[in-house]
Amino acid sequence: MLRKILIANRGEIAVRIIRACAEMGIRSVAIYSEADRFALHVKKADESYCIGSEPLAGYLNVYALVDLAAQTGCDAIHPGYGFLSENAGFARACKEKGIVFIGPNAEVIQRMGDKTEARKAMIAAGIPVTPGSEDNLENVEAALALAEKIGYPVMLKATSGGGGRGIRRCDSAEELLKNYERVISEATKAFGSADVFLEKCILNPKHIEVQILADQLGNTIHLYERDCSIQRRNQKLIEIAPSPQLDEAQRQYIGGLAVLAAKAVNYTSAGTVEFLLDDKGRFYFMEMNTRVQVEHTITETITGVDIVEEQIRVAAGLPLMFKQEEIVRRGYAIQFRVNAEDPQNSFLPSFGRITRYYAPGGPGVRTDAAIYTGYVIPPYYDSMLAKVIVSALTWEDVIKRGERALRDTGLFGIKTTIPYYLEILRHPDFRAASFNTGFVEKYPELINYSNKPRPEVLASVIAAVIAAHTGM
Ligand code: ADP
Ligand code: ADP
Ligand code: MG
Repeated sequence: MLRKILIANRGEIAVRIIRACAEMGIRSVAIYSEADRFALHVKKADESYCIGSEPLAGYLNVYALVDLAAQTGCDAIHPGYGFLSENAGFARACKEKGIVFIGPNAEVIQRMGDKTEARKAMIAAGIPVTPGSEDNLENVEAALALAEKIGYPVMLKATSGGGGRGIRRCDSAEELLKNYERVISEATKAFGSADVFLEKCILNPKHIEVQILADQLGNTIHLYERDCSIQRRNQKLIEIAPSPQLDEAQRQYIGGLAVLAAKAVNYTSAGTVEFLLDDKGRFYFMEMNTRVQVEHTITETITGVDIVEEQIRVAAGLPLMFKQEEIVRRGYAIQFRVNAEDPQNSFLPSFGRITRYYAPGGPGVRTDAAIYTGYVIPPYYDSMLAKVIVSALTWEDVIKRGERALRDTGLFGIKTTIPYYLEILRHPDFRAASFNTGFVEKYPELINYSNKPRPEVLASVIAAVIAAHTGM
C-alpha cells in the first residue's frame, strides 16, 4: 500500500483527498502558492510546501512537483481535478521518477483527453457518438462543408477542451464563419492546442454521465449515473444521482455502455463517461474524463463507495473492493456547487473576506469545502467555494432537504449562487424532474429573485400594513 501522497492541487478537492489519506493511514503532503498560504488544505495536510510566488505556475510545474514528491519521500501523487489531472506528460513524468500517478496511464489520458481520438475509439468499440467530424477540421471550408452535411445547428469544439470552455453553438454558416477563428484562439490560449472539430448539436439534451471504477487486474464496474443537466454556459451547477429522468431499463443500459467504453480503452482508475440523451431517448457518447470529478460526491452518497479511496487502492495495484452486483443504490443525492459569484450581476466573481461561515448539518447533509470564517478568497482560482450535498430516499424529500440545507448554510461577506439554487428548487419543472441543459436559459426570471417579491410575501406585507393602520 502507498505510504505518503503529494496532492498536486488546492481547494476543496485537496481537502477531500487529505481526508481519504487520513482514513487510510497515508501521510499527506500539500502544496501552496504564496496566495494560498492561508488556505485550508495547507492547514489540514500532514506537511505543506510553498511552490512559489506565482498564483498558478507552481501548481502547473510538472517537473518541480515530481521532484518535490521524490524529495519529500512520497510514493504517489494525486492530481485532483483541473490543473495537471488530465496531463499525460505529468503521468509520464511521475512514472519515470518511480512515483505512482493516481489516475489512468499516460496513454489513456492522452487518448481520451483528445476528444477526436476519444470519438474514434468509441466508434471502433460500437458506442453511439454524436454525428460529426471524423478528424480535427483542416480549415473553415472543411468546417462549412461538414456542417452542411450534418445540418445546423452544430457545435464547434476545442479538441482538448474542458471545464465547459472552448465550445460554441453555430446555428448557420454565418455563425460558423464568425466563431471558427474565435474558438481556435480560445483553444490555443486555454488549452495550448488549436485543434477543433464539429458535432451535431443535440437539441435540449440531458447530460447523463456514468461513474466508472477499474483496477489493474481487469475488473471494471460502474456506480450508476449522474444527471448534470442543470448548467449555465456548459458549466455544471447542480448535479443529481441517480438521474430522476431515467427509467430502470435506461439506467442499466447506460451503465453497461459506460463499462464497455472503459474496457474498450483498457481504462484503469476512476473515470467518467459523459453522454447526451436526446428527446427521443437516444444516448450519444460525448467525452470521457480521466480523473475524479467535482460531482463524485453524490455517487459516493447513494452507493456508499469511497471513490477517492478506491482510486488510491487501484493505483497501488490492489483490486476493487466491490463487484458490480455488490453495488447497491439508495435514494437520491443532489450536489450544489456554491460559487463565489453574484447571480444577479451576470454571475460576476465575488471575491474577498468571508466574514462568517458555518456549514449546514443534520441528517443527509454533507459539505465539502475549503473555507472558514475570516478566510480571504484569492481572485486567481476557481470560484467554487463549497459543495453542499444532500440525500434522501425520495425525490420529493431530497428537494426539501436541499432547501433546508441551503437555508442552513451561513456564508457572509460575499455573494454566492445559493439564492439562485433556492429558486431552481422551487421551480415546477425541477420538482417534476423534467429539465434539460436549456433549463437555466429558459427561465431567466429565476435569477431576478429578490427584485420580484412573491405574491404570498407581498400579500402578507400588505395585510400587516393594513393591520397596523387600522389597529386590527
Ligand atoms: P467536472 O468535469 O468534474 O464536472 P468541471 O468541468 O467543472 O468539472 O471541471 C472542474 C475543474 O477542472 C474546473 O476548474 C475546470 O476549469 C477544470 N478543467 C476541466 N477540464 C479542463 C481542461 N481540459 N483544461 C483546463 N482545466 C480544466
Ligand atoms: P467539457 O469538456 O468542457 O466538459 P463537453 O464536451 O463535456 O465539454 O460539453 C459540455 C457541455 O456542453 C455538455 O454538458 C452539454 O451541455 C453541452 N454540449 C456539448 N456537446 C453538445 C452537443 N453536441 N449538443 C448539445 N449540447 C452539447
Ligand atoms: Mg464534459
